[in-house]
Amino acid sequence: MVSTFPTLNSTAGAQLRFEIRALQPQLVEWRRRLHQRPELSFTEHLTAEFISQKLQEWGIKHQIGIAKTGIVATIDSGKPGLVLAIRADMDALPIQEENQVSYRSKHDGIMHACGHDGHTAIALGTAYYLANHRQDFNGIVKIIFQPAEEGPGGAKPMIEAGVLKNPDVDAIIGLHLWNNLPLGTLGVRSGPLMAAVEIFECTILGKGGHGAMPHQTVDSIVVAAQIVNALQTIVARNVDPIDSAVVTVGEFHAGKAHNVIADTAKMSGTVRYFNPVYQGFFRKRVEQVIAGICQSHGASYDLNYYSLYPPVINDAKIAELVRKVADSVVETPAGVVPECQTMGGEDMSFFLQAVPGCYFFLGSANPAKNLAYPHHHPRIDFDETALGMGVEMFVRCVEQFCN
Ligand SMILES: [Zn+2]
Ligand SMILES: [Zn+2]
Repeated sequence: MVSTFPTLNSTAGAQLRFEIRALQPQLVEWRRRLHQRPELSFTEHLTAEFISQKLQEWGIKHQIGIAKTGIVATIDSGKPGLVLAIRADMDALPIQEENQVSYRSKHDGIMHACGHDGHTAIALGTAYYLANHRQDFNGIVKIIFQPAEEGPGGAKPMIEAGVLKNPDVDAIIGLHLWNNLPLGTLGVRSGPLMAAVEIFECTILGKGGHGAMPHQTVDSIVVAAQIVNALQTIVARNVDPIDSAVVTVGEFHAGKAHNVIADTAKMSGTVRYFNPVYQGFFRKRVEQVIAGICQSHGASYDLNYYSLYPPVINDAKIAELVRKVADSVVETPAGVVPECQTMGGEDMSFFLQAVPGCYFFLGSANPAKNLAYPHHHPRIDFDETALGMGVEMFVRCVEQFCN
């Protein structure tokens, strides 16, 4: 599958880069337009309309309204061959933007604070380029514009709606603009890249009373505090130290007055891990810890535990293809960074469970331009030079895979 690809020294390779670089002003324009009109999960109507309008303008066949606001564009080379899917997410976050840029969000309290505006622009640029270079690849490229990555997740309903069928997708690739890596670098690795995401919400039910008469009560705060601490021992004592995992209690609410023992305490948290063998394990252990501590104090509990996304696991062969392509796109060999795992989650994982593929990171931080805030921060912005690099990665992957 992996063959020699055109290096930049070759005429074809240099021409490809030259043509993609020429797209840069449009990529920036599209990204900024999307940035000004961010939309929350499953309400990406303006975004979908913009994408559809562009695809129509370029004569690219596409289907709209998949899993509410999703779109799938199909670019057929007209020649037999493999089918490669490219996935881009397009939703924003409930964050008030603090950047004072000309293209700042016009939607109050909503911001593209993860970079999905850039992902959409890169996918559009890729569609435009491929539609005009059908002679340079075989088979078919499907471009999937997915809603609701930030939750509850648009990948699963899109798969259920059949986006990987008719024609059947052989492999899938996708990228995330990544401010944890500097501009000019690419994070590519085989195997686990991002973590499984599980969520729990727990209410400890004690018995309230007078702050001076604890013997008449069951203090929900004392019980819940012990639970917060004990949950940490799941990673420290039950998980193989070679594996990575996290249990975080991110929310804790209890009590109303200094002299009143609270009858209930509420907490919520998240669990992360890479290794699929832990599927179901944390659900069981978290409940055991909560139940045991509650029992020893005469409290009871109410627990909701659910799995949001499985881990993002890259296929070895496709990751190798992407890595080779990345080698040809970056300026130096050190530009391809395999040490890029994160405990963040992504619903790209559902696509990667369905077909082999590779998700990778596109370095976008540029501290010299103050473009290095973390994702989901109200001041995040990225170096838009990365947009062209993203298109080049996708196009070269298509030319390698679909040949
Ligand atoms: Zn995000
Ligand atoms: Zn994201």
